[in-house]
Amino acid sequence: MLSSPNGLPASRANEVHEYSVVQALMERVLAEASARGATAVHRLSVRIGELSGIEPGLLASAYTLVKDNGLCDASELDIRRVPAVWACRDCGRQVAKGEILRCPACSAPAKLVSGDEILLERIEMEVP
Ligand SMILES: [Zn+2]
Repeated sequence: MLSSPNGLPASRANEVHEYSVVQALMERVLAEASARGATAVHRLSVRIGELSGIEPGLLASAYTLVKDNGLCDASELDIRRVPAVWACRDCGRQVAKGEILRCPACSAPAKLVSGDEILLERIEMEVP
């Protein structure tokens, strides 16, 4: 099998996005862990918006590839999916899913208030 320069099989290019998200996540976790003198990381909780372009299954499998770095190799990844939510940019009234993206009260355009995020919500770690 051919490999791309970063070691990922070239045929799995659509997993590269999840892979780089996990690497960025891991960098933050390791920075937090070393700042607190942690000896192990038990669990990460991430929040993935419906419109983030992240496939939770691919994220989970990328995580199992990246986590073997000593501190995180026994850790688990919790993925919480959150739906897309739009609200009026003027009055804040929420626009129901599947509706026209315009406020039912004042007809101002709606804006996305959540659903495109990739958030590291929580790290559980062992601190001596
Ligand atoms: Zn409105």
